[in-house]
Amino acid sequence: MSRYKFSPAERFAVYETHGEKCYLCGKPIDLKTFEVDHIIPEKLLDDSSRLKEVCDALGRPADFSVNSYANWMPACRPCNGKKQAAVFEPTPIIQVILQTAATRSERAASLAQKTVKKAEIAKALNLLERANEFGELDDIVKAALLPLVDFQLSERAADLADEPIRLSPSFVVHAHRHSSHHREQLLASELCGCFFCLKVFSPSLITAWTDGSRSTGVTALCPFCGIDSIIGSKSGYPVTTAFLQEMKAHWFGGLTP
Ligand SMILES: [Zn+2]
Ligand SMILES: [Zn+2]
Repeated sequence: MSRYKFSPAERFAVYETHGEKCYLCGKPIDLKTFEVDHIIPEKLLDDSSRLKEVCDALGRPADFSVNSYANWMPACRPCNGKKQAAVFEPTPIIQVILQTAATRSERAASLAQKTVKKAEIAKALNLLERANEFGELDDIVKAALLPLVDFQLSERAADLADEPIRLSPSFVVHAHRHSSHHREQLLASELCGCFFCLKVFSPSLITAWTDGSRSTGVTALCPFCGIDSIIGSKSGYPVTTAFLQEMKAHWFGGLTP
């Protein structure tokens, strides 16, 4: 357990800056349950002479802080557990990782700042942190997290563009496939909904597709309003009127059909 109490903004910055994956095994991690690892262990704060020795061996600057973006990396729980159980040695690979963290620390700090300044993002991050990790997030929480999904889409590295956004173990948003290029996902859904006209209906009612020909198009057009704003229940989003209303407010502002 870390004794430093990370703010939701700090956690988000560490998660996003280092590509939404565990720095030890490379596996994708979710924002809710990932752990922030201290590259140089926090427990060395109890032994200042050993800490100085380690920092010198690893070529850290005099102002290096164990609790800073220059020493924090995102990890999955199994990897972080293994690392904490092992004896820490200042090896060359650790030095390389510290260098990476140092190089990206400014970007992390500015990303954290940005999230704090945007009220709806700060609210979403707080909500995600407080939400029950062991149950499914309810629709109200999911709806309040939408601005965060949007923010992540605009902030994440280009090579993550096709990766789903992993907000929690149970809430994964297939970001680029929720309302376009989603024919297979939609046809596999029990229900779908339009977040423009707010109708909820069976995907079998869809007859018009775009992004291709009528028979091979991959993006559905709403059979009621004609807008390409359909999401299916298989997307990870809840297809309820309340949720569609939140989506609509978020993506279409005050527009009405
Ligand atoms: Zn891992
Ligand atoms: Zn519609």
